[in-house]
Amino acid sequence: VLEMNHIKKSFGSTEVLKDISFSVERGEVVSIIGPSGSGKSTLLRCATFLETMDDGSMSYLGHSLVTSKNGKAVYADKKEIKEALTYFGLVFQNFNLFPHFTVMKNITDAPIRIQKRNKDEVYAQARELLAQMGLSDKENAYPGQLSGGQQQRVSIARALAIKPNILFFDEPTSALDPELTLEILKVIKNLAAEKMTMVIVTHEMSFAHDVSNRMIFMDQGVIVEDTTPDALFHSDNERTKAFLGKYY
Ligand code: ATP
Ligand code: MG
Repeated sequence: VLEMNHIKKSFGSTEVLKDISFSVERGEVVSIIGPSGSGKSTLLRCATFLETMDDGSMSYLGHSLVTSKNGKAVYADKKEIKEALTYFGLVFQNFNLFPHFTVMKNITDAPIRIQKRNKDEVYAQARELLAQMGLSDKENAYPGQLSGGQQQRVSIARALAIKPNILFFDEPTSALDPELTLEILKVIKNLAAEKMTMVIVTHEMSFAHDVSNRMIFMDQGVIVEDTTPDALFHSDNERTKAFLGKYY
């Protein structure tokens, strides 16, 4: 679904991504772990066009969207990028719902306005998603009237409403208390069981171990390891061991 090769990104003189390559196959769940400041969010932001990379190449579903020419990233034209924005969904730590839109409008706005899909079909799908998230009674509520866990379930429903080929999560539970965290992790596990392709940045180690096909350990802008959960948890790499050690 996604292929990124030799991605480089600096902020000023700080090199945040140093030659990152990774790919995600259909149906795969890939977790990314690593210390604060290692570049996890920057990588997701580059993958989702929220940030431009300096060098490297990227393709979605075999469509080349960024190519590397003479050590510089060259982006495809606006029309192709705009089309690519419907390939993926993104769920953030802080929910990022539109506060002045109802739950229903948060979910249906992009499918109707950007994807220009049939309204009845979009509303029917949104109601299905809300039922799946246990939020059928909240479609007319505003985000401010919901708990953090409910808001995060709405933002997952919103991401799913565009029918993405891949879903990115950036620390989806780190703003939630333990009980609400479990509730969101369960939703993500259900999506994994339905073979949703996902990339998840998380500090929930046992969840990542259970749900992932692959785990990536990032440190200081490089991928230190990209392997199976079991192999990562039994790694001989000193940096990996030192990082995981903090969680036991
Ligand atoms: P955390 O676990 O704390 O979320 P992270 O692995 O997601 O960390 P990033 O947010 O990708 O880390 O940040 C990597 C580095 O890039 C950090 O040193 C950060 O200060 C820097 N950085 C990120 N965004 C910007 C920006 N817009 N301008 C300048 N520096 C930035
Ligand atoms: Mg981050």
